[in-house]
Amino acid sequence: MSQELDTKLSETGTRFRVYPQNKNLKGFNEPELIYINSKPGTIKAGPQDDRMYVIDAKNKNPYDHPYLPPYSGQHYPNVEPDSEGHFDYIDPKDRAFGSTSMYASIRRVLDIWEDYFGKAIPWFFRAHYSRLEIIPRIVWNNAHAGYGFIEFGFPRKNHLSTDFENPYCENFDVVAHELGHIIKYEVIGFPDSEESETYEYGGHHEAFGDLISIVSLLHFDSVLNHLLDNTKGNLFSINELSRVGELNESESIRSVFNDMKMSDMLDVTEEHDLSLPFSGGAFDVLVEIYEHNLIEQGTIPENLAKRSYHADEVELPGIEEEFKQHFKDKKEEFKTALLDARDYFGKLMALTWDKTSPNNLYYSKVVTNMIDADMELSNGKYSKIIRDCFEWREIIKSIDNNLLRTWRVN
Ligand SMILES: [Zn+2]
Repeated sequence: MSQELDTKLSETGTRFRVYPQNKNLKGFNEPELIYINSKPGTIKAGPQDDRMYVIDAKNKNPYDHPYLPPYSGQHYPNVEPDSEGHFDYIDPKDRAFGSTSMYASIRRVLDIWEDYFGKAIPWFFRAHYSRLEIIPRIVWNNAHAGYGFIEFGFPRKNHLSTDFENPYCENFDVVAHELGHIIKYEVIGFPDSEESETYEYGGHHEAFGDLISIVSLLHFDSVLNHLLDNTKGNLFSINELSRVGELNESESIRSVFNDMKMSDMLDVTEEHDLSLPFSGGAFDVLVEIYEHNLIEQGTIPENLAKRSYHADEVELPGIEEEFKQHFKDKKEEFKTALLDARDYFGKLMALTWDKTSPNNLYYSKVVTNMIDADMELSNGKYSKIIRDCFEWREIIKSIDNNLLRTWRVN
């Protein structure tokens, strides 16, 4: 969301606390204060409001058609606001924290993206349900979002046991990814027929969730600081953003920081794997806009930015040392460049997705929409960046590539 709106919310919004990422990750063990775009007193016990409600169900199995909301079984009591209408008083060790953090994560992602889209994002299931049902803890080793609901289980500790101390509902970035799917069903929708559903529609679905999550994560001060401090401003190095939905520090379930090209995807149909060239290319666009801002502000020289893009192992140490020198006295300038890049990228993706049809969806068409969106937003200021990033991923050229065309009609 715009930095102006975000600043305003710290005076007018309702307070909650959430963990931006897996709370076992170093540097993210404390929940961060966030503000929801609702006046204190308007969010009722649950928490609940006019768009969504939390039910902390007891021993619930996952929804699976025809088992659908509303949930009518036993549940724990609703969580009450404090006397001023805020929810940040809940102790992270209390069971109730799962309810407040999951509600706040969903509401925050919606606040952020409704601002980028410049309009309300209604629920795709509104014909049957006026509100989203949120279940923080179900008996399951996974998380999912569907028709009228979003519900979360627990990660596995290892092959034999479940990590009941670290529920998914307390991990903002996992919640944001799942809500991303619900947003996409409304914004892009479903293909009209089986024939018009492509593998890339499925791959783009996962990329959409990851990009929604990454941009939302960049609204946490702890994430911004950790990220910039650890990379000294060189975001092309391994960083926090690349670990969306990560279960622990070594096991990454998705990664937008990747070097996958379409030629690596010839036999791939699994959605998460297939998402990588698109989400990786989009992440490159975000980072290049950030570096463009750094150059424009006079924070780093142009040739450093150019060399940092896809630098190899021999070049990397020298490049990191140069970033370190610039970063030393100019951290605030790096942060401004990143916040501005985040907000441009958020608006760019929102307008891109507004133009995207679910029928015969290919990554190349989404990129064309991105170039058109950039033209509308800034008269094409970043069109070369967009083209270069997706040509490198072999997404733009793939339109005329016979090999890829054959693969696509499978
Ligand atoms: Zn997903």
